[in-house]
Amino acid sequence: MAEVMYDPAKSKRVIVIGGGLTGLAAAHRIHERSTALRRPVDLALLEARDRVGGVIQTEKQDGFTLECGPDSFITNKPWGLDLCERLGLKDRLIPTDAGHRRSFVVRKGRLLPVPEGFVLMAPHRLGPLLASPILSWHGKLRMMMDLFLPRRDDDAEESLAGFVRRRLGREALERLIQPLVGGIYTADPNDLSLKATLPQFPAMEREHRSLILAGLREARKRPGRLDRQASGARYGMFVALEGGMGELPAALAASLPPGTIRTNTSVRRIVRNDPISPWLVELLDGPPMEADSVLLAAEAHASARLIDAQDPGLALQLRAIPYASSIIVNVAYRRDQIRHPLDGFGAVVPAIEGRPILAVSFLSVKFPSRAPAGTALLRVFIGGATQPELCDLDDDAIGELVRQELRDLIGASGDPLFMQVGRHPRAMPQYVLGHLDHVAAIRRKLARHPRLYLTGIAFDGVGIPDCIHAAETTADTLLDALANAAASAA
Ligand SMILES: Cc1cc2nc3c(=O)[nH]c(=O)nc-3n(C[C@H](O)[C@H](O)[C@H](O)COP(=O)(O)OP(=O)(O)OC[C@H]3O[C@@H](n4cnc5c(N)ncnc54)[C@H](O)[C@@H]3O)c2cc1C
Repeated sequence: MAEVMYDPAKSKRVIVIGGGLTGLAAAHRIHERSTALRRPVDLALLEARDRVGGVIQTEKQDGFTLECGPDSFITNKPWGLDLCERLGLKDRLIPTDAGHRRSFVVRKGRLLPVPEGFVLMAPHRLGPLLASPILSWHGKLRMMMDLFLPRRDDDAEESLAGFVRRRLGREALERLIQPLVGGIYTADPNDLSLKATLPQFPAMEREHRSLILAGLREARKRPGRLDRQASGARYGMFVALEGGMGELPAALAASLPPGTIRTNTSVRRIVRNDPISPWLVELLDGPPMEADSVLLAAEAHASARLIDAQDPGLALQLRAIPYASSIIVNVAYRRDQIRHPLDGFGAVVPAIEGRPILAVSFLSVKFPSRAPAGTALLRVFIGGATQPELCDLDDDAIGELVRQELRDLIGASGDPLFMQVGRHPRAMPQYVLGHLDHVAAIRRKLARHPRLYLTGIAFDGVGIPDCIHAAETTADTLLDALANAAASAA
């Protein structure tokens, strides 16, 4: 490798590696801010696949809008909405249909509504919970003990399952919370770090002692803001894009100067001789590229491979973040082929039911424009951390499994109009016990590499708004460092 010194006064080539939402949002922010400050940056975004968007992928078929990855995002964290506004996508946002904002949970093969007002882990109303057949009387009484149990006063790491068992009991965990919360992370709640995944719940315990009291008090304080009938996830807070979630990466890509994005460009590794040299970005195919700053926005395990030669210790830490694989099957039926009224947004399946699916979402009920009239578009979720072996099944076996499950659960008969199997190998990081300390250790190691930045779904939150926020914050840090280097060289 040639000896080239980093010259802060003139070189400002920035390479972003990974063209998923994180890499795109970071590149967009770098372009947006450097243009506003009139400090142009020579920006490149390298993506291994033949398209950008990463796990976000929308396809159109016969009047249906298929979401192969995410189908919506939450708006109580502002960063998704804010980015859509800056991209001119505000008028493209659509809310979930107000008609059926509830979900079901499977019990002994039947779909039972999640009690009205039950949101993730805390009930905002007691009546529907006490009347619900999802929990036995014993389970309900154990849950009510939360009203009297003392708060835990140490700050020790606790798993999500441990926390729920301690406060609400085993049955509430197995029948309600494991399927509702575990589904978001396609995770086993016994492994998930509560502090890293849902820090608002230990905060509730600290402030109110009881989760039930906290939920009831919130409902009393903000009666207008809580949808009384809503249950499960907070569906009123979710939005999608009219043409599908793929509009977001497409708009981000279109906002960048032509030639910035290079698809089919897989990075092999990044190296440099010493901290004052530029980074050399070596590609699987093609000549290496030089960069003053590099922003890694690939999956943690992929970033580990890229940095292995330069810092094996950092690579090891990145590899240690476990990932789960999953499959999302889009499946369409004529409406009259399905017996169930589909009067909700979908159903989650507790692990204790022993079924081979995690959940089914009624996408065309949630967003009616996703399917032509007289049809139903469903999404079936398979695999995750608890059933990884199912991800090895071929498409035919997955198709058969989906048909059978939908026949049993919602009375879907006959052949579906079509089925599309989307695979997400090692795409969902698991924020396991110790995650926050682990990320802090990664950041300490990263700090030894000037002008190298790292972000993505693996670190500070898995949702779309979290990834956007992390990407923009990292892009700002990168630009500030470039500006400081230029200022001290002047
Ligand atoms: C199945 C699934 C469903 C989800 N549903 C929702 C939802 O409904 N709502 C929500 O808010 N969030 C959802 N999420 C989370 C959401 O998808 C993420 O927040 C976000 O899309 C992650 O983007 P990312 O860019 O960090 O990662 P990715 O999308 O994984 O992108 C990483 C990119 O890096 C590229 N790359 C890897 N290695 C290299 C290399 N060597 N060279 C070049 N490029 C490389 C990859 O090809 C990929 O394109 C879901 C996640 C999954 C997995």
